[in-house]
Amino acid sequence: MTKSQITLLAIFSLFLIVGCGPSSEDFQSLDHSNMNTGASEPDEEGFVWQTEQFADLKIVRYQIPGWEQLNQRQQALVYCLNMAGLSGRDIMYDQNNRYNLRIRRMLENIHTSYEGDKSTKGWDRFETYLKRIWFSNGIHHHYSNKKHIPEFGQEYFDHLLSSTSTECSDEIRSVIFDPAVESKKVEQDGTLGLVESSAVNFYGPGVSTEEAQAYFASIKVEGDRSPVEYGLNSRLVKTDDGEIVEEVYKLGGLYNDAIAEIIKWLNEAQNYTENEKQSIALAHLIDYYETGDLEKWSLYNINWVQDTEGDVDYINGFIEVYNDPLGYTGSYETIVEIKDFEASARMQTLMENAQWFEDHMPFMAEHKKDEVVGITYNVVNVAGEAGDASPSTPIGVNLPNSNWIRKVHGSKSVSLGNIVGAYDKASGGGMLSEFAHDEVEMKRVKAHSALAGKLHTAMHEVIGHASGQLEEGVDTPKETIKEYSSTLEEGRADLVALYFLLDEKLVELGLMKTIEVGRAEYDNYIRNGMMTQLRRLELGDDIEEAHMRNRAWVSNWCYEKGEAEGVIRKYVREGKTYVDVMDYERLRELFGELLREVQRIKSQGDYEAAKNLVEGYGVKVDPAIHQEVLDRSEALGIAPYGGFINPEMSIERAESGEIINVEVTYPDNFTDQMLRYSSMFNFLPDVNALN
Ligand code: ZN
Repeated sequence: MTKSQITLLAIFSLFLIVGCGPSSEDFQSLDHSNMNTGASEPDEEGFVWQTEQFADLKIVRYQIPGWEQLNQRQQALVYCLNMAGLSGRDIMYDQNNRYNLRIRRMLENIHTSYEGDKSTKGWDRFETYLKRIWFSNGIHHHYSNKKHIPEFGQEYFDHLLSSTSTECSDEIRSVIFDPAVESKKVEQDGTLGLVESSAVNFYGPGVSTEEAQAYFASIKVEGDRSPVEYGLNSRLVKTDDGEIVEEVYKLGGLYNDAIAEIIKWLNEAQNYTENEKQSIALAHLIDYYETGDLEKWSLYNINWVQDTEGDVDYINGFIEVYNDPLGYTGSYETIVEIKDFEASARMQTLMENAQWFEDHMPFMAEHKKDEVVGITYNVVNVAGEAGDASPSTPIGVNLPNSNWIRKVHGSKSVSLGNIVGAYDKASGGGMLSEFAHDEVEMKRVKAHSALAGKLHTAMHEVIGHASGQLEEGVDTPKETIKEYSSTLEEGRADLVALYFLLDEKLVELGLMKTIEVGRAEYDNYIRNGMMTQLRRLELGDDIEEAHMRNRAWVSNWCYEKGEAEGVIRKYVREGKTYVDVMDYERLRELFGELLREVQRIKSQGDYEAAKNLVEGYGVKVDPAIHQEVLDRSEALGIAPYGGFINPEMSIERAESGEIINVEVTYPDNFTDQMLRYSSMFNFLPDVNALN
């Protein structure tokens, strides 16, 4: 199975809030005076990126750069694909757990009809519980898989029920309050029974792990070189005669009412497709939803990977299988994407000038390529997400999952640029003011770091990885420098980016207006590599991850080499450690020197030198600094997990029904959006039918 989505992992600490105070406390009023809602300050344009924070979660907004560059038909296409996506929102809830929709609807009903005192601790705890459910599409934590336990007591719950004339069965009550009931969404410990102990709704009551496995084994065709993704779109249930059968997600099958809506919007999307390939792929997707036939899903994927010419793209379907303890059934998910026009232009400029950069590398002459071709990479901007991809979202997509389709027909891999950007903007502020050493650095980084980060990525990918060559007869780095090859290669690409980020050539090419952009990146890189990235590590651990390692060895090496000259100053002020880049030009030379050496190591396959560099500068952590970084980050109270409020779109139709105008707005209230979605996309029946 391909690990096909890069999950948003900003996260190493996990604090679940468990247990509840004495229930009478729920009726006390909440002390608002020392409450931190977690909203960020508006940026220069007045946009608030982070709207709130609760439990271990933060809520972030994103914009759709490039929206105005789409023509009216393209905007209509995006709108229809978004509506298709949202139409299936409730499927994800029901897939995650068979009680989810009933519980969510009950709580939403209380939320909208309660007219009592909302300034109490109890109400705050109730809202937090409901928001956590919205965040994770159900009663289990999206990342830890553990069930959310309400912080309010049953006495307060009874008060809410009676004041809103809401019914709650004993069964539902135990699902909400009893930690032992439906306790884990996905169980991965085989000794506990994968299917039996998992609360996901991919298997009906009474289906055992053995029966499920036997069933899947029985439907596989031996020797099939183009197998379908067996079990991807169905729930396994046991009939009254004890037979195991699939309830297929399709028109006329399980989730019919939502799927009919999805199909309706995909059909309308057909009116606005950009080209024939896109239209053909979409037709196969509709065909698949209508029939549930997985051969049609394969056919759709084969056509979708070839649909690369438009500015609009999307994923839609039952896709990732990690919520299924047996790894067969896909969770409902959609992402609608538009081309990142800025990133494409940047990439184009770099591609056209790739040879100039190669010729000006600080490499030894024999390690330069005579003819270099830049490497393309793909960034898109998200225009809407639903299901498994929302509110918590991946930051990249690499699909399809079918191995043979990837091999024979290829795959698409994109990173979600505006999501990454929004996430940085939301979390960056607090960390920056804590760790930046003075106002000048703060100002520079605030003004330039967004562009600096994008340029760094573009240089890293297009120029960095493409550059340099091995000496005659030297084996590939995997064979010569072995376990150090990947951190060395990532560091090499970073160094290429850093080296040229202080080059006037980038200004001349119009990629940046001022060299200050490069300086901002130097500040960020050194601060992160020497200090702030350590917050992702547990005390006492070595650095293991390849990129974290390379940021450490690049920064620490340059610090040590420039120490005598004071290139980077490290000092303590009022008990806090700061790093300060004192001489940018000299730091650039050090980056160049290290780059030349790293290229030599790669070109000659010098294992010992690779080992000394990585082990000497990129693995071990100074425990005192590490502790300090952890303490200072923790004091900022930044929630480890982020989720997103989607932009919303409204349309005008001509008399013919054609969409003639699409307006985008950026809502700033998570609760309102969730309630709006729940009422607009409320297609699944209530719900016993689905059990
Ligand atoms: Zn890379």
